[in-house]
Amino acid sequence: FAPWDDPNEKPLIRFENVTKKFGDFTAIDDLTLNIYEREFFALLGPSGCGKTTMMRMLAGFENPTSGKMELSGKNIAGIPPNKRAVNMMFQSYALFPHLSVWENIAFGLKRGNMDKRDIAARVEEMLKLTRLTKFAGRKPHQISGGQRQRVALARSLAKAPKLLLLDEPLGALDKKLRQDTQFELMDIQESTGTTFVIVTHDQEEAMTVASRVAVMDEGRIIQVATPDGIYEAPNSVYVADFIGDVNIIEGTVKPAGDGMYSLAWAENEPPFLASSDLPFSDGQKAHLAIRPEKIAITTEKPEEAKNAVQGSVLDIAYLGNLSTYHVQLAGGQIIKAQTANTRRLSRRSITWEDKVWISWNATAGVLLEQ
Ligand code: ATP
Repeated sequence: FAPWDDPNEKPLIRFENVTKKFGDFTAIDDLTLNIYEREFFALLGPSGCGKTTMMRMLAGFENPTSGKMELSGKNIAGIPPNKRAVNMMFQSYALFPHLSVWENIAFGLKRGNMDKRDIAARVEEMLKLTRLTKFAGRKPHQISGGQRQRVALARSLAKAPKLLLLDEPLGALDKKLRQDTQFELMDIQESTGTTFVIVTHDQEEAMTVASRVAVMDEGRIIQVATPDGIYEAPNSVYVADFIGDVNIIEGTVKPAGDGMYSLAWAENEPPFLASSDLPFSDGQKAHLAIRPEKIAITTEKPEEAKNAVQGSVLDIAYLGNLSTYHVQLAGGQIIKAQTANTRRLSRRSITWEDKVWISWNATAGVLLEQ
């Protein structure tokens, strides 16, 4: 079991030492993962890390080269896509242009041996769920992009799959509509109780919709956690850097008692204090990961903060709700600090080339091995 799996809970999906090779190339590398019932699970990672390959194996379009894949405790190797309680919704939606919304949703049901009246009842239910009842008689070209997305979702859920795979489900929508639709997707997932697995390039989207996120790299899983777990407690520099903005300060660790460590990071500068659950030994190399919004920037030396260091402002970006500062420290290191602009700025209190103090609390950062 991976450290993030619960050995007492039965997974809906289990990958056990799954490897997928294309010729000599290993796309998925000895991967073990549990996905539980009713989860909204996101696969995140750079292009080519194997997200689509995972989805295609779940859907049954590809088989693992070795290892075991289970759905509800049963081995699914060799079971064809249409015989699995799994459905996949593609970015293109693949709606039939000549069929009405109603007929599009009914299509998969008609191919089974379901009673006509039951089909009608199920389609009505799906129309209601996705707020499309009014549009039942229209063709796909007579409805908006957001509505088309909901038709595709209704159609994918009509046969009540145990697992729905969503490949960039909101990729065709503009930003505002995309954000609204994220909340709809979460509502629908919750009310149907179907397990959703989503692949998206938009990290913010994954963090918004998912109950757990897996961060992948080169066919492996680096960390699985809740969105806040991934953001606040990344297990590696790779994960910290992949999700959001982060400052990484390299140094040498000295234990300071009570789970605290001091990090020597530059000559002639006092060390930074950091807390960590990991056991670091004296003299070990480590990386302190600290998010820009955890760093305060002031003109006077702060009295309270554990870590304070002087630097000069290289540049400032005003983003409306936030301002971002790049501050160069004596050792040459550049630190990014971000402050919320909660009050209207009458004048900039800190400007370019100012000498400033940046500071943060010992518990605000995460000390990482690599
Ligand atoms: P993206 O975010 O760009 O869609 P991804 O994480 O989904 O990327 P995959 O499509 O799963 O990545 O591909 C993983 C790796 O496997 C890539 O290097 C890709 O080139 C390779 N690959 C995928 N399918 C095949 C195939 N049929 N034959 C050979 N190589 C393949």
